[in-house]
Amino acid sequence: MNHKKINKKDLGNLLHQWSKDYTVSVPSSEGDTAQMGLWDGRDIGFLDWYRNTAKPPKANFLPPVEEMFRFQKDKGGYHLDLPPEEGQQLIFGIRPCDARSLAILDDIFTDAYQDPYYLPKRNSAVLVGLGCLKPYDSCFCTSLGISPGESDDVDLLLTDIGDQFLIEEISDKGKQLMELTAELEDATEDDTARAREAKGKAHDKVTRKIDTQHLRHKLLSSFEDETYWEKVAAKCIACGICTFLCPTCHCFDISDEMVKKEGARFRCWDSCAFPLYTKMPMENPREEKWQRVRQKVCHKFEFYPMAFDVIACTGCGRCIRLCPVNWDICQTLAQLPG
Ligand code: SF4
Ligand code: SF4
Repeated sequence: MNHKKINKKDLGNLLHQWSKDYTVSVPSSEGDTAQMGLWDGRDIGFLDWYRNTAKPPKANFLPPVEEMFRFQKDKGGYHLDLPPEEGQQLIFGIRPCDARSLAILDDIFTDAYQDPYYLPKRNSAVLVGLGCLKPYDSCFCTSLGISPGESDDVDLLLTDIGDQFLIEEISDKGKQLMELTAELEDATEDDTARAREAKGKAHDKVTRKIDTQHLRHKLLSSFEDETYWEKVAAKCIACGICTFLCPTCHCFDISDEMVKKEGARFRCWDSCAFPLYTKMPMENPREEKWQRVRQKVCHKFEFYPMAFDVIACTGCGRCIRLCPVNWDICQTLAQLPG
């Protein structure tokens, strides 16, 4: 295939071109947190610090807080105003693990119903991936069939080959984007070989592993092992960070805010780690912390695969890196009895 390349210093021009047709997001820092945020039209300094965002790109499709509609009440009843349609997003720099997480989330948002908030954003978005050449110690994506430098889940894939990026068209959307993009230099065979070498090295840098064989069976047989789950859950403080920042966790709560006769309905991220989870519509069926920790693990590695034939974990390592008490999902899986 005919690949293209671009000098890193010209990346701003490329983003500028794309920003005429798309709302472009790039890795951005917000306080102490990195997330995919709106590009300011100038800065490509993220290339110097970016490894991965703390807040995963699910936030671009399932925002932490999202207004679903506004309402007013009068004698005729309730009148609803839907939010305006958003422009097409182009997410630049998404990592292969996070692109896979969106493919995993698509299953849940298209299963029993077609989610009218997630899907329009997701279907119109273009994902420009950036191969991850410096995985963290906490990453274990290769155990989940993901390679940090490769992706079938993006539209274009860029690979750092020194002063330049190699650009590969992955999907039809990516091809169309390249047709709209001013002519770029063709990559040489040498460029492609350098990208291949960089991808291979990145793959080898992921040394943390989990064994997914027989995992469902092990989780099933240890489900009632209260002693094990209590031991595993002992240091968890139920802060919910691991679920909020997990790219595949997708629980949300819905609430209305109303002042006098008008208001808005919102949905916002929720977490099965919280004692109050599902308390409003019913009782939390998992009163004990160990039950909630067990739920988090089993949902990803047992229940989601039963429903959709895919493990709901990409090995991104956020839940390990960002947990305030160093709770480690890999340890929990490795030490499962049975
Ligand atoms: S981030 Fe750590 S402490 Fe917080 S809920 Fe998750 S495992 Fe528990
Ligand atoms: S469970 Fe942890 S490693 Fe797996 S996708 Fe979620 S945050 Fe990443």
